[in-house]
Amino acid sequence: MIVYDLECDHSHRFEGWFGSADDFDTQLADKLLSCPICNSGSVVRRPSASYVNTGAIEKPPREKRKSSGGGLPQQYANVSPEIVAKVIEHIVKNTEDVGNKFPEEARKIHYNEAPERHIRGTATARDVESLRDEGIEVVPLPVPPHLITKPH
Ligand SMILES: [Zn+2]
Repeated sequence: MIVYDLECDHSHRFEGWFGSADDFDTQLADKLLSCPICNSGSVVRRPSASYVNTGAIEKPPREKRKSSGGGLPQQYANVSPEIVAKVIEHIVKNTEDVGNKFPEEARKIHYNEAPERHIRGTATARDVESLRDEGIEVVPLPVPPHLITKPH
């Protein structure tokens, strides 16, 4: 793809995209080019500022993570610490702490091998992945594990 700076006989400047330099020449010869502003067919290519797009995909710059949330994951960055604290309190009050037995317990509950209840605990990313593969809903908490589980 080639981008040419074009200009009509009324000095309107615009860009034209062409598959190749030949493509441009053909379109120009066939009078297919016209000024988008005044519709004039007298279009010339400006000698300056043409460039070739090689088709290489430029990776967009990585979005900078906002670190305004005091170490919380980004999806919670817009939630006040008070609300997060309340959520944690609610979770801690309404769940049973099973610590690092979390994946095991979650599985037992899922397969009715343990009484149904809400549990909290720690799990590795791999644990979480395999739990989800088995259809077990696991929700990450926006807090470090030591706030959720007592040392065992
Ligand atoms: Zn024009």
